[in-house]
Amino acid sequence: MTARTHDLAALTALGAVIAIWPVGTITLATLLIALLANQIGGIIPDIDQPTAPFWRNLPVGGFFGRVIDKMLGGHRFLTHSLLGVGLFGGLTYLLLKFLSPIMPHVDVRLVWWAFIIGMVSHLVMDTFTKEGVPWLLPIPVKFGIPPVKSMRITTGKRGETLVFISMLAFDAWFIAAHYQHIILLIHQNVT
Ligand SMILES: [Zn+2]
Repeated sequence: MTARTHDLAALTALGAVIAIWPVGTITLATLLIALLANQIGGIIPDIDQPTAPFWRNLPVGGFFGRVIDKMLGGHRFLTHSLLGVGLFGGLTYLLLKFLSPIMPHVDVRLVWWAFIIGMVSHLVMDTFTKEGVPWLLPIPVKFGIPPVKSMRITTGKRGETLVFISMLAFDAWFIAAHYQHIILLIHQNVT
């Protein structure tokens, strides 16, 4: 799926998790960095694509994109598996640990979870596409929903637009329906 859909899916997944398991009081810094980590997690699996938006925005991104692509085994490989989530989760944990002394007001545990939620949402979304996702690497089987390939979504085509619009409509409805509650929560819990 495209980066736009993954961004929205990561945010939607984060919202859903928070609605189910409220996080309690958090600082504004934690909220902002968690949102950023969630968006990075939402697109990071596609760093294995030389043309990914992740690389396109860097000056020599095309070159690095191709090198990383070879290292990670090509598109929809290591970064699109639970093993990849574990690997990137570990690296992100180390990075956050390293950065935590300069971010005293940031709850790195929540930032880490926001990243993982974004990354898992990416894999879930890609599972609905024709290519499928090798969730259980090193077992080289790509899983897809529905199992019949022809019924799945083609990236960038009408099916994906429909998914994007449905997700946007759901988010708009959710925010509108719980608006007062959300504002109250932000007032009470973000310090
Ligand atoms: Zn992907």
